[in-house]
Amino acid sequence: MKVSDYPVGVFASIDAGLGVKLEVVRELGIKTIQLHTPAKASRTAGQAEKFAGKLKDYGIEITVVFLGFDGETYETIARTAETVGLVPKATRQARLQESFEIADFAKLLGVAAIGSHIGFVPHNRQSTDYTEIVETVRTLCDYLAKNGQALHLETGQEDVDSLLQFMDDVERSNLYVNFDPANLILYGIGKPLEAVAKLGKRIRSVHCKDALATAGTPGVDWGKEVPFGTGQVDAEAFLRALFAAGYTGALTIEREIPEEPQRQKEEIGQGVKLIEELVKKLIKS
Ligand code: MG
Repeated sequence: MKVSDYPVGVFASIDAGLGVKLEVVRELGIKTIQLHTPAKASRTAGQAEKFAGKLKDYGIEITVVFLGFDGETYETIARTAETVGLVPKATRQARLQESFEIADFAKLLGVAAIGSHIGFVPHNRQSTDYTEIVETVRTLCDYLAKNGQALHLETGQEDVDSLLQFMDDVERSNLYVNFDPANLILYGIGKPLEAVAKLGKRIRSVHCKDALATAGTPGVDWGKEVPFGTGQVDAEAFLRALFAAGYTGALTIEREIPEEPQRQKEEIGQGVKLIEELVKKLIKS
């Protein structure tokens, strides 16, 4: 492995949703992004061409396009369960259709991976609720396969054993994991380093994000997101575990404090420095 196998990335948006603006990415000299779903009006062939041209000028590559939908909120863990991803039934079919459109837009941009928080998967494998969401994810994987794309499930809402079981039940060879170590702490459902070892080669993209566990009730009250390298993830141990698991690919910083853009930019800049230092240190040793 060499240092260039691990480019730094950042979670970004062009016009809507989570992530920093492209101009910030450029100012910080970051060369890869994961892109949060652009607004519907932007998802046209003309816009894709324009956007691809801009990225080329900036020397920025998109590694993953992340699904996002109107009506999602991460306000509380309970509200997240009610509103996020493909699990909520009232919006499932419409969001599945929209996922196809987003995937087609990503294809126009030459992106081969779609990331998603699919939501809180029910735990009873014998239930209809469970088999229905397995079927939904199969349908999405099959659509993506035709586009030459993979689906990366974001970690967080499931403990790692349930996630592995779910992936095995979906039984699709283009189904992988976007590993977010902070989410395991935020949702109070596991230890990031153990999860990396268990997921191993299924990890195809990552979020470098950090967090402190809640002082309240895990799984009910949110933990607190903090800048990468300052929380309970242990940034160096996390990267070491990833590399030991055979991961290569972008190390994508996610820092969700859109209400404070200046602080967000500074903290992402510090994250870039930290990751570059750690990669150099770990790849040499
Ligand atoms: Mg994440």
